[in-house]
Amino acid sequence: MRRDQHPDWCARGHRCGLGEHRAQPITLDAPGLGRVVLTRVRTEDGRESAEVRLTVALATTEPAARRQLMALTNDLDTVLSRAVYASQPPTRRAA
Ligand SMILES: [Zn+2]
Repeated sequence: MRRDQHPDWCARGHRCGLGEHRAQPITLDAPGLGRVVLTRVRTEDGRESAEVRLTVALATTEPAARRQLMALTNDLDTVLSRAVYASQPPTRRAA
């Protein structure tokens, strides 16, 4: 693919530019509680990544907010591990 060609998933327009292609973001919204925005990105050197922006409303008191942050840290570690695992060929995953 030439550098000036958009991949089929590129949203084009204002989302694409400055050396990268960007897909239409996928938004998961829990009003008042949290939001996730997931965007596929390809940089000028051809590397692709999933950009994830997560916003979570924290409790107004401690230690509840800290418990939320600890839970988030643990869950995000699981999310990252699962995403890396999913990149393996199915034959390797079965082992
Ligand atoms: Zn593009």
